[in-house]
Amino acid sequence: MPSASTPSNGTLFWRGITRACAACGQRGLTRRWVTLREECPRCGFRFERKPGHFVGAVGMNTIATFALLLITLVAGIGLTWPDVRVIPLLVPMLLMAVLVPLLIHPTAKTLWVGIDLMMNPLEPGESVVESEERTPQQG
Ligand SMILES: [Zn+2]
Repeated sequence: MPSASTPSNGTLFWRGITRACAACGQRGLTRRWVTLREECPRCGFRFERKPGHFVGAVGMNTIATFALLLITLVAGIGLTWPDVRVIPLLVPMLLMAVLVPLLIHPTAKTLWVGIDLMMNPLEPGESVVESEERTPQQG
């Protein structure tokens, strides 16, 4: 049962997938692309709640990348069967193996923060701004 100040699971998921602060919904949490701020500039919520917190984000990133590689491999083999050409299949997969983890890194981290808040609700004082529930919106 979440505490009174912890947003609903749907809100936490939406904020995580859209790279917003899970606690208050603040955006603009990354420097350049890959560096997540240590804490929310609006509510002060520290994203790394304990040492090793982001191992889960790395795990989700790895699973998503390997899933995309597997889909690409199966689709590539399926589309070119029986004359499978290795190099035209390998080059995009190598690019994906490098680029996809970088592209989804900040989203994996904010999503992991949201998932962590689903399992371990906000402690008193972790977020100083009262949470405002938002419904998912496009744009
Ligand atoms: Zn915040």
